[in-house]
Amino acid sequence: MEILQYPDIRLFNTSVPIVAISRINPTLLAEMRYAVTAVAGGIAAVQLGDPVQLICIKFGSEELFLVNPQVVREYSPTIFSNERCLSINKGRSTFVVSRYEKVKVRYTSLDNITKVRKFLGKDSYVVQHEIDHLNGKLVNQK
Ligand SMILES: [Zn+2]
Repeated sequence: MEILQYPDIRLFNTSVPIVAISRINPTLLAEMRYAVTAVAGGIAAVQLGDPVQLICIKFGSEELFLVNPQVVREYSPTIFSNERCLSINKGRSTFVVSRYEKVKVRYTSLDNITKVRKFLGKDSYVVQHEIDHLNGKLVNQK
């Protein structure tokens, strides 16, 4: 599994929406699952070289895939979050990033159900970080 490293130009691409969940590459899912379990709290498909709108996040023991995630509401206040990114210096550098304390996100689950979920605190920062990846944004550019 290779994780793209800044300044690889592919990290700046905007990821494309997934039209058919059944066509998501199973290898990609396995690699993302491995990455969040072994290495980090979250990963975006584009970091593995597949620019589709798919992120995976680990919350405690819960592992969550979000297909085509969109922030539908941001709640003030914003806070400063200390974040690392597997695609920048292999996750060894820390960046201070402004994040909303809470966000509401609409996404499709892997079993093809549209869901809306609120994320709070650290979970919220991880979701915002990964959705930024889908828009070609990295924490060293914010
Ligand atoms: Zn990242």
